[in-house]
Amino acid sequence: MRPAAFFDRDGVFNVDHGYTHQVVGIEWIPGGPQAVKRLNDLGYWVIVVTNQSGIGRGYYDEAAMHAVHDALREHLAEAGGHIDAIYFAPHHEDAALEQYRHPDPPDRKPNPGMLLKAMADFPIDKERSFLIGDKDSDLEAARRAGIAGYLFEGGDLDEAVRAVLEG
Ligand SMILES: [Mg+2]
Repeated sequence: MRPAAFFDRDGVFNVDHGYTHQVVGIEWIPGGPQAVKRLNDLGYWVIVVTNQSGIGRGYYDEAAMHAVHDALREHLAEAGGHIDAIYFAPHHEDAALEQYRHPDPPDRKPNPGMLLKAMADFPIDKERSFLIGDKDSDLEAARRAGIAGYLFEGGDLDEAVRAVLEG
């Protein structure tokens, strides 16, 4: 059993310009690679949980999202760190594409589905786990999954992670 550090994506690892789906033009938030390496070294699972209703809305497809995730993994490897998993929630109640339409998608934050899946997929010590996100819906998902949630309001992500770890 190891603790997990869950991260939202947009607004945490990259600047949130809305429906980020292109590698070109991504603005990385400072301290991401260092934060992930720090958590790797401390034995945390590092897991990204990202709402991606832009897929359901038909703004971009899963392949475009995976390209962004490849770029994210490459970026985070700059300091020698890695993420263990990325979960995404493409569903939305108003999805243009029927296969992504759901009245209350269980994976879409503030619902905790992605976190609960990760807890089933990895041996996670919930007591010591936490989530960092930039929206109330992130913190609500953490609450519903039974873990601590911390709001990231910008700045350096590694500093924010250190503050969480130091309690
Ligand atoms: Mg966000």
